[in-house]
Amino acid sequence: MTHPAQPKASHFINGEYVEDTAGTPIPVIYAATGEQIATVYAATPAIVEQALSTAKEAQKAWAKMTGTERGRILRRAADIMRERNHELSVLETYDTGKPLQETLVADATSGADALEYFGGLAASLTGEHIPMGEDWVYTVREALGLCVGIGAWNYPTQIACWKGAPALACGNSMVFKPSETTPLCALKVAEILIEAGAPAGIYNVVQGMGEVGSALVTDPRVDKVSLTGSVPTGKKVYAAAAEGMKHVTMELGGKSPLIIFDDADIDNAVGGAINGNFYSSGQVCSNGTRVFVQKGIKEKFLARLAERTGNAVIGDPMDEATSFGPMVSENQMNIVLGYIEKGKEEGARLVCGGKRADKDGFFVEPTVFADVTDDMTIAREEIFGPVMSVLDFDTEEEVIARANDTEFGLSAGVFTNDFSRAHRVIGQLEAGSCFINSYNDAPVEAPFGGVKASGVGRENSKEAIKHFSQVKSVYVRMGDVEAAF
Ligand code: NAD
Repeated sequence: MTHPAQPKASHFINGEYVEDTAGTPIPVIYAATGEQIATVYAATPAIVEQALSTAKEAQKAWAKMTGTERGRILRRAADIMRERNHELSVLETYDTGKPLQETLVADATSGADALEYFGGLAASLTGEHIPMGEDWVYTVREALGLCVGIGAWNYPTQIACWKGAPALACGNSMVFKPSETTPLCALKVAEILIEAGAPAGIYNVVQGMGEVGSALVTDPRVDKVSLTGSVPTGKKVYAAAAEGMKHVTMELGGKSPLIIFDDADIDNAVGGAINGNFYSSGQVCSNGTRVFVQKGIKEKFLARLAERTGNAVIGDPMDEATSFGPMVSENQMNIVLGYIEKGKEEGARLVCGGKRADKDGFFVEPTVFADVTDDMTIAREEIFGPVMSVLDFDTEEEVIARANDTEFGLSAGVFTNDFSRAHRVIGQLEAGSCFINSYNDAPVEAPFGGVKASGVGRENSKEAIKHFSQVKSVYVRMGDVEAAF
């Protein structure tokens, strides 16, 4: 019998499902059990061509619609996503293994927020009038054209919407390639947009591995590439986009610092560290995986952290009581277990967790290491799993220097009850998305993105509009033209 997660076909192009079984089969594995629940096929060159030519053509009429008309469609799509939240959340759980307790509140809902927010902004995207004496300049905010979105596997619905909603609001079309690990959810986003009244061809989904991503990025018809992925992939995609002078947004990895001063509310700080390390089983790019704790509260913090981590309910993601699910794939589980072994070998002190959970599926226990030093592998490399490194510090000056001593710069957090210190420290941290007495909140109203190797550009908020549009400036002369000859 066909599993309910099996999509009608692998791709969604020009308003309908399209199949081409000549492509490489991609098995979809449910991470909680290891069973194969669906198969999709990587896009063949013919499918890539169909998607790009359709999107290129459809964009012209879409850009000519008024912002109000475009916005109305996006807002309708948001409503449909909210009405179907349960069904979409179950699919997200099949796609990723994340517990339903999370997917019900963080995935289709977050996608709907993006569609609603950018739908609301679409009608207000205007240029300006610049007086020049008798003459004047006016500016027009124009679409870029055809945008390619490429997703990671941790938030497949959210990423499909965070890229699609601002792109479409500005009058662009999109070809979106989900991660090959989680190919299911973006297809639903495409389906819902059509149901909401979007013209066929403005939002298309094609499946495939890096090779398909690369074919999309290098196509001369593509004007912009927005990638969510790792730093090594980001470097390749950025370079390929530069070759064609394309616009880019790069949402890449991190190894973010979470700094806890000794005057912080311990329970809130522990809560922040748990949210910033164990939500989605640690598979979140902005996680605060280097938790710097001031020496005076170290043992108290670790004791409370171990106690609360022991309350994680690890198990069947479809049970709403479950608060901690598996890694997305066997491969990711093995990567994470490898880092845990490195942590032990290099002398970090294991406080809790530290092994695969005794279950079917790809579960790794929420793991805390203490006495971690800056040079240890677990403190330097992005693990993308539930492994928290706790490091000690003495002074503010010292912790700022150590926090910034990384190639990454996605996020940073500070817990303290001294507000002047909170702002002073945040002001010196090299990171794009920061938190004070909180961690990992990502509302659509706030810009999201990194500095240094963590990325280029911003998603969400009005900032995203700048990255999906360009400004045309028009000088208008009222009098005669003076010329030298
Ligand atoms: P990945 O880099 O392996 O893959 C990302 C996407 O790029 C996939 O769809 C993949 O098929 C595609 N790809 C691979 N090679 C390509 C190429 N040469 N050309 C074009 N496309 C190519 O990342 P992943 O393992 O899927 O996701 C985990 C990574 O993503 C982590 O580093 C994480 O921090 C990052 N991430 C960042 C954010 C953010 O917003 N900053 C959010 C989620 C995940």
